[in-house]
Amino acid sequence: MDRIDLRSDTVTWPTPRMRQAMAEAPVGDDVYGEDPTVNALQAQAAALFDKEAGLLVASGTQGNITALMTHCGRGDRAIMGNIAHTHLYEAGNPAALGGIQTHMVPVQPDGSLRLEDLEAGITSDDSHYPVTRVISIENTQGSVGGQPLPASYIEAVGALAHKRGLHLHIDGARIFNAAAALETSVAELCAAADSVTFCLSKGLCAPVGSVLVGSHDFIRRAHRVRKLLGGGMRQAGIIAAAGLVALEEMPGRLHEDHAKARALADALAQMPCIQLDPAPVRTNMIFFDLHPDAPLDAEQLAERLRADNIWIGPFGKWRVRLVTHYWIMPEHVEFVAQRMRHHLA
Ligand SMILES: *Cc1c(COP(=O)(O)O)cnc(C)c1O
Repeated sequence: MDRIDLRSDTVTWPTPRMRQAMAEAPVGDDVYGEDPTVNALQAQAAALFDKEAGLLVASGTQGNITALMTHCGRGDRAIMGNIAHTHLYEAGNPAALGGIQTHMVPVQPDGSLRLEDLEAGITSDDSHYPVTRVISIENTQGSVGGQPLPASYIEAVGALAHKRGLHLHIDGARIFNAAAALETSVAELCAAADSVTFCLSKGLCAPVGSVLVGSHDFIRRAHRVRKLLGGGMRQAGIIAAAGLVALEEMPGRLHEDHAKARALADALAQMPCIQLDPAPVRTNMIFFDLHPDAPLDAEQLAERLRADNIWIGPFGKWRVRLVTHYWIMPEHVEFVAQRMRHHLA
């Protein structure tokens, strides 16, 4: 990669092995279910998550809205976090495309939604109310710094959902980061979920794509929703080939990204102009605030760092997000810390 890009793990380039696999992938028409590489990826994803079936989708956003529209009809309620990606960053698609009423519950600093808040959002069987169909949780929870939610918590949410006749969806864009941080498997983390979306195109380094997994019946219905959303792709084996390499090679190395984030957070926390508690840095994401009396605000700091070939993500005037990934080398950590120290002196 030609720059030290810490804005997101979405900036990752495919690896040489992925490009090779893409060039050589056997393909077919996936709308007919005839692309062998897509079928292999979907089967591999389902096996890893211990679910019956998988569905390749164009993006995490498409995976989540496909899941929500498969679980919910028009006017139905989906419960999710008030700063969940599905609420904040998916262009209002539950309302715009699904006619779905979203009910927001406050996200706690550890990324969880309180069970009592979830329970209070579930409507009773009374014609005044929308019918509540699904609870959606995010793992890792990005907006609180990539916090991983443990299996015990997810089981409790699943038990509540199922007791009340609802489904549990996991927006697992970074579920492999959660599994690495918690030293468990994605199957274990998602045992209670009826559907899970995960991204191939973030920490797993593939260029495009996400996969939705669930039961045979769920995926059969999701297939129609994906088509409705324009997500029926043809020789998509070109994309899936990179995804297969991603699943094979990347989950086992994500702890390296977490170690780099931790090392960078520890270095930044020493700097007087930076307010950062390294303790919550458990995966590949760091949020910090610049002191209001720092010599630069977030935008100005980002601009200075670009001259050093370092790219960071300002999140408001004083807040910065940094995300580590495959293309951030361990030696970049010290260089980034040193340049930050220099610009903030
Ligand atoms: C990135 C992300 C998505 C959406 O993925 P896209 O591929 O960018 O559409 C969904 N949820 C979370 C938590 C994400 O970080």
